[in-house]
Amino acid sequence: MTPDPRRRIPRTDAVLAEPRVAAAVAVVGRARVKDVVLGAQQRARAGEIGPDDVVDAVVAALPRSAASLRPVLNATGVVLHTNLGRAPLSGAARDALVTAAGTTDVELDLATGGRGRRGAGAMAALADAVPDAGGVHVTNNGAAALILAATALAAGREIVIARGEMVEIGDGFRLPELLESTGARLREVGTTNRVRVDDYAAAVGPDTGMILKVHPSNFVVQGFTSSVPAGELTGLGVPVVADIGSGLLAPHPLLPHEPDAATELRAGVPLVTASGDKLLGGPQAGLLLGDAALVHRLRRHPLARALRVDKLTLAALEATLRGPVPPVRAMLEADVAVLRDRAAAVAAAVGGEAVDCAAQVGGGGAPGVDLPSAAVALPADYAEALRAGDDPVVGRVEQGRCLLDLRAVPAEDDARLVAAVLAVAGERRSSHPTTATTLPCHEGSTS
Ligand SMILES: *Cc1c(COP(=O)(O)O)cnc(C)c1O
Repeated sequence: MTPDPRRRIPRTDAVLAEPRVAAAVAVVGRARVKDVVLGAQQRARAGEIGPDDVVDAVVAALPRSAASLRPVLNATGVVLHTNLGRAPLSGAARDALVTAAGTTDVELDLATGGRGRRGAGAMAALADAVPDAGGVHVTNNGAAALILAATALAAGREIVIARGEMVEIGDGFRLPELLESTGARLREVGTTNRVRVDDYAAAVGPDTGMILKVHPSNFVVQGFTSSVPAGELTGLGVPVVADIGSGLLAPHPLLPHEPDAATELRAGVPLVTASGDKLLGGPQAGLLLGDAALVHRLRRHPLARALRVDKLTLAALEATLRGPVPPVRAMLEADVAVLRDRAAAVAAAVGGEAVDCAAQVGGGGAPGVDLPSAAVALPADYAEALRAGDDPVVGRVEQGRCLLDLRAVPAEDDARLVAAVLAVAGERRSSHPTTATTLPCHEGSTS
C-alpha cells in the first residue's frame, strides 16, 4: 500500500522557515507570505502540484515588495501618462524623498527650537523659480489648488468662466462639478468656440467672487475660435485666477502655445494655479503662485490644512526645482537623431525594426503637439506579453504593430527594455513557436 502523498505536504512552519521564504517575510510581512503558503498547500492537496514542489511554488508566487505598485517602462510615447503616474522623478528628487521619509525638520527651526514654516525650503525654491510671484503656496494637486481658490474667493458667490473652458480632466472628473462642490455658482459666458472681453464684463457684478480662466490642456478647438487671455480680464474689478494646468514656470520654445506662470503673472494675473507633476517634472502637487496678499489669504484658509502636502512631496518638489533637469524635460527636449540611434541599437539587439513615429506630451499639456520620435516595431502580440512581463513594458499598437517609443524611456533604461523584450521573445519560442495573434495594446486616458 503506497502512503498518501498528501501526508508529505510540508507543514506551514517548515515552509516559513525555508530561507527564501523567511527573507520574504521580512519584506512583505508574515500574513501575506502565509497566504501564499496556504495556497500552495491547497494546490498540493488538490494534486495540482507534488508535495515536493510546494516550496518552489511558494517562492515563485511571493510578492516582491510590500506595496503593489510596480515599476513600468513607459514606451507609449506619451511623456506625461496619467495612468503611469505622470512625471518620473529625478534621482535628486528620489533621494530627497527617501531622506525626508524618516524624521525630519519639516516644521521645526533647528536653530531656535521653535516652530518653522512648513516646507520653507520648498517654498523658497518655488519663489526663486518664479520671481514674478509675490506669494507661493503648495497643495496636494492642481485640483486642490483650484478648490482652495474657489472656496476662499467664491463660495456662495459666482465664478465667471468661459463655456469653452468647462473641461473634463480625466477619469470622469469635470472641472465645473469640482468648482460647484465648493458652493460657488458657475456663470458661463460666451459659446463653445468663442468668448470676448465684453462677455466677461457683462457677467461680472456684485455677486462675482472670481473670474476663472482654464487652459484646455487635453484638447484643441480649431477653426472659428476666440478666447481672452487672462491678462486682459484684470481690469474688471474681481480676482482673476488662471489655471494653466501643465506647470510650465516660464515659456518653452518647443511648446509655444502652452501657457506659463511667468507670462501670466507679468501680464498682471493675480493668481496662477498649476500641477507639479506635469511639465514641471516633479511630484504630484498643486502650485498657487501670485499676489502676496491673495496667496496669504488662501494659505490661512481653514481648508488649506486639509489640502496640505506631506513632507515627501515638499522634499521632492524642492529637489526638482533646485536640482538637475528633471526627466520629463530631458524627454521633451531629446533630439530625435539620438532617439533614432537608440531605437536602431535596441532593434538590432531584439530583432525588431527601428521606425520613425510621433510622440506626445500627454494629457498634462500641449494637446495636438506631435513630438518627432523613434520606436522599435514588433509584432502586435508583444504588447500584451510585455505588459505582463516581470519588468513590465507598456507600448502602443499602431497599424497592426507594437511600437516601443523611446521618447519617454530614459536612455539608461534601454538595457532594461532589451532584456524585457528578449524575455518575451524567449517565452514565445519555448511555449508557442508558430502562433501569432493580434491583441489590443494598452488603452487608457492620458489626462
Ligand atoms: C491637470 C489639470 C488639472 C488638474 O490637476 P491635477 O494636478 O491633476 O489635480 C486642472 N486643470 C488643468 C487645466 C489641468 O491640465
